Amino acid sequence: MTDRIPVTIIPGDGIGPEVVAAARRVLDAAGAPIEWEEAEAGAAVFQRGVASGVPDETIASIARNRLVLKGPLETPVGFGEKSANVTLRKLFETFANVRPVREFAGVPTPYSGRGVDLVVVRENVEDLYAGIEHQQTADVAQCLKLISRPGCERVSRLAFELARAEGRPGVACATKANIMKLTEGMLKRVFEGMAPEYPDLEARHIVVDNCAHQLVRRPEQFDVIVTTNMNGDILSDLTSGLVGGLGFAPSANLGADVAIFEAVHGSAPKYAGKDVANPTAMILSAVMLLRHAGLDEVAARVEHAVEATLAAGIHTRDVLGESVSTTAFTDAVIERLDAAPAAAGAAGPGRAGRRVRQLRVPRVDDTPQTAKERVLAGTDVFIEWSGSPDELGASLEAIAAGTPLRLKMMSNRGTMVYPSRGAQPSLVDHYRCRFLARDGAQPTEADLVSLISAIGARHMWMHVERLQQFDGARGYTLAQGEDNAR
Ligand code: NAD
Repeated sequence: MTDRIPVTIIPGDGIGPEVVAAARRVLDAAGAPIEWEEAEAGAAVFQRGVASGVPDETIASIARNRLVLKGPLETPVGFGEKSANVTLRKLFETFANVRPVREFAGVPTPYSGRGVDLVVVRENVEDLYAGIEHQQTADVAQCLKLISRPGCERVSRLAFELARAEGRPGVACATKANIMKLTEGMLKRVFEGMAPEYPDLEARHIVVDNCAHQLVRRPEQFDVIVTTNMNGDILSDLTSGLVGGLGFAPSANLGADVAIFEAVHGSAPKYAGKDVANPTAMILSAVMLLRHAGLDEVAARVEHAVEATLAAGIHTRDVLGESVSTTAFTDAVIERLDAAPAAAGAAGPGRAGRRVRQLRVPRVDDTPQTAKERVLAGTDVFIEWSGSPDELGASLEAIAAGTPLRLKMMSNRGTMVYPSRGAQPSLVDHYRCRFLARDGAQPTEADLVSLISAIGARHMWMHVERLQQFDGARGYTLAQGEDNAR
């Protein structure tokens, strides 16, 4: 008898227990050599007072088994601040979320027959999902968008490796680098720098809004799309819509050590306990798990059984036409486990020809890079102010007089309003006040600190940013309307 592979299974919330049970039944019926270890996370755990929604026993189980099949998790209102999903992704550094979609025979969509078959590789732990938020004034809140070079390298490398492993011709990198040059631009630069290592693959950058547009107009042009966390969240819901909806979209959260497989969808609470949810996404997530564990043969059997079931016109009620229950759909999949792939009559293994098997999760060099030359250029001080920009400007000019720093400009929500260039944005009580070195002066740490304390004596400041040059390149962007002159 084959050694059984231990897998942590988390039923989750809402429709989770039903679709997870369906996937488990199918894998057991297919003879997958898996030892399930049930663990808890989500709403009930939050309600017991565990602030993360993930108990220690679950963390220990995942750390031990390193393979997880997971249902959707809810964060009940009034309990816990952070999503249990994000906690799991961050705790086990599952840095990439791989979300394949493809057309299924028997699931009619406006795109049927066009061969949609693509994978969104979403960065999974950084970006706005770091969840670093601050209320700045009563009227203004901020969320920090943190993007790292190692994070971009890991996800780019994984996207290229996945394209190669699946025999797909290319990778598109979707970013908003045209607006967020330093953060979104980091992924673009890392991706473009890595592309020459994969001369067999076509690598291209696409602006993310155009990517959304192109996905709706001509989705068949895409094979692999790598993107930042927030963009990937949105684009991958869009791509599931191309093939019949969230009920058909599986995913894998991949890290160097741990892989968590789950449907893209959430807990769909209105369908919970009604035996109507579509278990396809969860069963296909389990197929991804089987392949990741090297169980290709049983993975193919389960996948073909799902395809054959759908192709026979059997589906749950999220697809138009006569529908069956979750249980009946699962029974129908189990009945077809022995159907030969050729007899499945479904879309087959997809345009790429084969599904990835045990994707090597790349390790990248994450030792911090250092700049040869790093120069302190000044500071941005964010100040609460409800008077006129000119009054604040005059006050700050007076504070900086006689110091090595001068007020270069002030912006309000990113648009320069002082000195005035005639822009008339509606103003909020939150100004970014940029101080740069006076000509010939090189400000010191002490200069910054005394400037900030002098400002603090007269104004309410919220946060401060150090402005730096890295090897001669400006490490901060200009405000809308600001010129580059010193
Ligand atoms: P959702 O995915 O639960 O539901 C959106 C809609 O999609 C549902 O109303 C339903 O019509 C449909 N749908 C989704 N899955 C389906 C399925 N398997 N079968 C049939 N129809 C299906 O998204 P939501 O309503 O935004 O979120 C509900 C809860 O789930 C929230 O608490 C959210 O935080 C959580 N959530 C969890 C995860 C996760 O655990 N990975 C992901 C997304 C949302």
